[in-house]
Amino acid sequence: MNHAGPEKVRSSVRVDVALPLPIYRTFTYRVDGVAPPVGTRVLVPFRQEERIGWVVGPGSDAMIDRIKPVLAVLDETPTVPPDLLELCRWIASYYVAPLGIVLKSALPAVLSDVSRDMVTLQPGPSKGLRGRETKLLDWLSTKDGPQRVKSMRKALDMGSVWPEIRSLTARGLLHHETVAPPPPSVKTRRTVTLVRHLETLAEREEAFGRAGRQREAYEYLEAGGGAAELSRLTGTEGFSRPVITGLEEKGLVSVTDEEEYRDPFSNTPVVPPPNFTLTDHQRVALDELTSALGVEKPRPFLLQGITGSGKTLVYIELLRKVLAQGRTAIVLVPEISLTPQTVTRFRSHFGDEVAVLHSGLSDGERYDAWRRLRRGERRIAVGARSALFAPLENIGAIVVDEEHDGSYKQSDAPRYHARDLAVVRAHAHGAICVLGSATPSLETWHNANTGKFGRLLLPERAGGGSLPEVRLVDLRTERKKRGGGDSRGQVKGRRSERGAGVLSKELVEAVDERLRKEEQVILLLNRRGYSAFVQCRECGEVEQCENCSISLTYHKVTQRIVCHHCRFEAAAPSRCPRCGSDDLSFRGLGTEQVERIATETFPTARIARMDVDTTSGKWAHQRILERVERLEVDILLGTQMIAKGLDFPRVTLVGVVNADVGMNLPDFRASERTFQLLSQVAGRAGRSSLGGEVLIQTSLPDHYAIRAAVTHDLETFAKRELSERAHPSYPPHVRVINVVISSPDQLLAASAAEGAAGWMRRGLTGQVASSGEASQAAGQVEIVGPAPAPIERLHGRWRWHFLLRGSSPAALGHAARALAEYHRLPSGDVRLSLDRDPVAVL
Ligand code: ADP
Ligand code: ZN
Ligand code: ZN
Repeated sequence: MNHAGPEKVRSSVRVDVALPLPIYRTFTYRVDGVAPPVGTRVLVPFRQEERIGWVVGPGSDAMIDRIKPVLAVLDETPTVPPDLLELCRWIASYYVAPLGIVLKSALPAVLSDVSRDMVTLQPGPSKGLRGRETKLLDWLSTKDGPQRVKSMRKALDMGSVWPEIRSLTARGLLHHETVAPPPPSVKTRRTVTLVRHLETLAEREEAFGRAGRQREAYEYLEAGGGAAELSRLTGTEGFSRPVITGLEEKGLVSVTDEEEYRDPFSNTPVVPPPNFTLTDHQRVALDELTSALGVEKPRPFLLQGITGSGKTLVYIELLRKVLAQGRTAIVLVPEISLTPQTVTRFRSHFGDEVAVLHSGLSDGERYDAWRRLRRGERRIAVGARSALFAPLENIGAIVVDEEHDGSYKQSDAPRYHARDLAVVRAHAHGAICVLGSATPSLETWHNANTGKFGRLLLPERAGGGSLPEVRLVDLRTERKKRGGGDSRGQVKGRRSERGAGVLSKELVEAVDERLRKEEQVILLLNRRGYSAFVQCRECGEVEQCENCSISLTYHKVTQRIVCHHCRFEAAAPSRCPRCGSDDLSFRGLGTEQVERIATETFPTARIARMDVDTTSGKWAHQRILERVERLEVDILLGTQMIAKGLDFPRVTLVGVVNADVGMNLPDFRASERTFQLLSQVAGRAGRSSLGGEVLIQTSLPDHYAIRAAVTHDLETFAKRELSERAHPSYPPHVRVINVVISSPDQLLAASAAEGAAGWMRRGLTGQVASSGEASQAAGQVEIVGPAPAPIERLHGRWRWHFLLRGSSPAALGHAARALAEYHRLPSGDVRLSLDRDPVAVL
């Protein structure tokens, strides 16, 4: 009965493969011999293409006509350890995302890049080869060293070459591996660096006289940390080359070739740590965490410690215990806090046990760091959001510092929240999860209240300092004092006045005092640019973005108006585009304007500005902070970037220029974010024995979020906010999923949203036969909307949205999954996106 040739004797098995495609299902392929273990990458044919996917289980044994073969098994050992695969399954299910897409985003990019597969010729007898195999070997013999499979395939033009690679590899004539791209070669770029600082206004007047553009270029460099790329200055920033040459001739700047690639983490020194004795509160917190290390499934902990209470030392001591048990750990910090200072704090204790996963890594470096963790050569992963996926085994602790931070939420699919995943992953490992914050999110605070999380308190500052005194300056009475001017032309009539009507007398005096005492000041305004919008005084027209329903921000240095969402920009207008009037007002104060005002008000002060515009270079952010640390800056001015984590002992004054920015956003977390921002920035003051003070300027001095920031009273804020979210119901009372439907066609977006919401309603009542699991959610999920999204147009797409709301996570999941999988959107360019547990619903 043995008709089959020797080839066919080998039985083939089926495997289930997840592909990184926007399709909510997996695919069955066949593979000869033994099935590769779950978590192994395979190359498979899919619609005329070759794609990388992951084996996620045994294939379906249903009758399938033509099961396609796996072309190649790409890993010797699975790239995805079993626990990580489980986590990815959880994410795919909870956030309603295709498993392949989740896997792709959880793993280093190299691993899903088809062009990273290389083959190398191996010496050996080549007798009995088939024509195609010989062709392949012949081609390789004309080359030196490893060759990309992709290039070979293109050059030979004989379709898939993987069957041949497989058979030749089996005979030892080829070696196949997935390799990382080489590290970026050292590239240089022309950089303009400030070499002489003009400390005072008088010196500046003298140096620049009427050379206004030189002065602007000088100030641009100064605000950007003292250096910028030449091409940026002469390109997007619009300075001419002679302007830069002028600065060179005055001996103010030098133009040099600087190495582009300089990773500030690669050589952070391993200095011995300071030798602190734990405070009593730190000790109590640590003891509780330590005893939980012995528990099989410990509950997560909220480490609720005021700013400066020494949360980091608690993390470090916990990590020490975890390592001593032979286990591993992950520490997540917000991207903006991932600085050499932060890393040094961990490296000083744990040296080369620490792998840092940061956004400055090239693909190859990221892959290297990942492999070191995978092989167990590093046992602590420190990084931003995606470090949660560090391939560690036997995890003992996962720490999420500043757990309230919005950057833990991923903004594209899969829209996971790394803090919530930390809880899930820790649970799977029986590890301790510590969520640390001075201003926890309302969700976490609530979980600690209900006992779902344990709560550890650090109510005092560790170094002996105390929380700074916070005072409010009522901007309404300030305005009255000045003789009832409205907010119009705020700067015009008051230019001569110190503070220009933007910095109150109290704030100006408080800054003066610090300058006299050679202490440092932080000024916060959470809005960049010069003015938030340009409005015609005649007809009221506001300049809007061409692609978004967003007003354009005026940037004075560049004389441009810019969309902060899609980056659309145009020359700043001199006349109203609608009525032609030249009576334009530039309204809505931004950091650029505050910088100008501060320079004029404090002519002797050295000022640095830190916002998205001054930190576009790779390590610009770092350079500015280093200047502050070296006491080369008297006033650090910026957006929310400067609110978090900074620990500068000589900062004794924090001024909030306008606390109300962001308060009126149509988002249910607007108050929470304001409270967090104010409390965090206030926490930058008085971190040493020098003491500290905070002045908050506001027109809403009675708002509970602002009042609570004054009294450092998290409990009162949280209780009030919890009741504000009761009617209508918002998290943490309920769970929500934001469903956004968008299209370049305004009517199509609206009708598709109506259609989807209607379908969902009928599905929830069992009226749609093909609605998958939707009817399982009947009576437990409510639909709010649809309505135009608060930002109705973004990147040229009109946006409508509705919320799915309910208290059963499972029911919400069923409903969302049904919508994503079974509802058919109208034809045309329409997209539906799901954002579960959104951090903002704009
Ligand atoms: P948090 O993250 O809670 O705001 P940090 O961990 O940054 O606070 O600590 C604040 C400051 O207190 C740091 O300068 C730190 O070195 C110091 N510190 C922490 N613990 C102690 C301690 N037990 N004794 C003395 N100083 C401490
Ligand atoms: Zn007009
Ligand atoms: Zn735009």
